Amino acid sequence: MYGILTADADLAREGVGDRTYYFADRVSGARRDPLPGVVNSVACWGDTATVRESPDRAAVDADGTRATPEAEGHHWGTVCPTDSDYRATTLDRVEAAGAVGDVRLTTLGFPGDSFCHCDRCDRLFAESEHDDRTDWRTAVITDFTAEAAESADGDVMATLYPDPYPGALRERAGLDPAALADHVDGFLVPLCGAGYETTYWVESLARGFASEVDGLDASLTVQLSASGVEPDRLVGLARQVEAHADGVVFGAHRTDEALSRDVLDRLGDRASSVLT
Ligand SMILES: [Zn+2]
Repeated sequence: MYGILTADADLAREGVGDRTYYFADRVSGARRDPLPGVVNSVACWGDTATVRESPDRAAVDADGTRATPEAEGHHWGTVCPTDSDYRATTLDRVEAAGAVGDVRLTTLGFPGDSFCHCDRCDRLFAESEHDDRTDWRTAVITDFTAEAAESADGDVMATLYPDPYPGALRERAGLDPAALADHVDGFLVPLCGAGYETTYWVESLARGFASEVDGLDASLTVQLSASGVEPDRLVGLARQVEAHADGVVFGAHRTDEALSRDVLDRLGDRASSVLT
C-alpha cells in the first residue's frame, strides 16, 4: 500500500495513491472537519492552544516541568492524559472522524518517560492496582485506545514514537504495541528526514518495528518525507522500507503532488510487475 499524508485538504481530496492520510487536527490545537474516505488524524493530547489557555492542564514531569513548546525536547504543548474532561472531548473527535472515514491517533501517550506527575496522576497511580508506574501509564493509554477504537466506525491507526528498542515505547510514552494491537487496526511510524542524505537509519528502524509487531494482528505503515527529496532517492528508500512494512505513505505539501504521483507510479509499476 502506497499513499500520501498531507495537511492540505485539496491535495487530500485528489486521491493520490491507495490511501490518503489527512491532518485534520494539528498539535497547535487547530481543528478542521474530517474529510470523508481518508484517514483523519486526531491529536490525542498534543494541543498547544489549550496549554497556553490553561497551563495547569499541561502534563508535568517529576521535576515540575510542564509539557509546553518551550520545554526542552518538546515542540508543542501536551495535555495530561488523565484529564477526564479533555479525554471526553478527544473521544468525541475520534467518533466524529470515525463516522466519515478512518482515524489516525497522533500524540498518543505520555510526552516523556517522567510524565505525568501532576497531583491527579499521583493520586490515580496510588489508587490503582499497579505497583509500577510504567505499568500504570501503559494501562491508562491502552484503556483510552480501546475506548477510542470502540468510538470509531472506521479503522483506527495508532502512531508510534520511532523507537523500536525493546521496552522503550512503554517507558517513554506508555505505548505497548502488543496490548494496543488488540484494539487498533494498524500502526504508523513516522521516519521523516530532510533530504535523506543517509538512509541506513530508516531501514534499521523499519526493521526494528517489523520485529516489534511481528505476530500481532495489526498492520505496519511507515511515513516518509517527500518534500525536497529526489524522486530516485524516495523510490529506493521506499523499496528498502517495504521489505519490512505493509505500507508506505509520503508526507507531502500541495506543491509535492507531481513528485508524489511520479514516485507512487514508479512504485506501483513495480508492484504490478511482481504480481503479473
Ligand atoms: Zn497528570
